[in-house]
Amino acid sequence: MIFPLDSFTITGWPHCVGAVKHRGKRRVSVKLVDSFLVPKATGRAFVVQKGQVLRISQPEGPRVVDFNAFNRDNCRELFGSSVTRRQVGIHPSVGDQLFSCPPWERPMFTIVADTVKHEPSQSGTRSHDVLSGRCSRVRRLQQYGSDSPGCQEILAAAIEAFGLTSDYVHDPFNIFMKTGLNKVGRSFWEESDAVKGDYIDLLAIMTCIVAISACPGRSSGPGTDPAGVELYKNP
Ligand SMILES: [Zn+2]
Repeated sequence: MIFPLDSFTITGWPHCVGAVKHRGKRRVSVKLVDSFLVPKATGRAFVVQKGQVLRISQPEGPRVVDFNAFNRDNCRELFGSSVTRRQVGIHPSVGDQLFSCPPWERPMFTIVADTVKHEPSQSGTRSHDVLSGRCSRVRRLQQYGSDSPGCQEILAAAIEAFGLTSDYVHDPFNIFMKTGLNKVGRSFWEESDAVKGDYIDLLAIMTCIVAISACPGRSSGPGTDPAGVELYKNP
């Protein structure tokens, strides 16, 4: 198949995965190696090899996806929400990199495609978020009176397969979540504006264990749509 690396040239991919140029147009042949759906309020953990492209998609409609990542060779090196926020802002998109936590602070992924229309709403919210952290059983009980698992618990269950305990769950990259800051600096969210067919593509700069949760929260809207995952490699 032909992989639509929207408006990007990746020089020597996958051998020079850091060498992403921000202009030019080129399409790269790649091979699908895995694909699956993650139903609402469930999670999954899997390995993404260096040089592979992970696509998180919306096969039916909006579903916010909480994304955690771990350096496979040293799982203490986690996705760094605050480092990423400092480096690229609170709404990462095409061309931005996702960084690991201190003391490493290295690129883990580069966002090489993103089909979401980033039209700021009247209140200034935008899609894809490293501001709001993750929902949890405690939070859901406080906010909605619902004693049910949140992304904290869903991600913890997913990473058990790799021998990782719940304290390895960390603040996520909230893909498709639409957030903003109000006039007094408090964060808030609006329903996701992702639509059926939207996706974001993440090029792995290092081999990672990735865990995702198809968030059970209300930021996805009232539907029950699953998240989609596809994994591509250079043949
Ligand atoms: Zn959640």
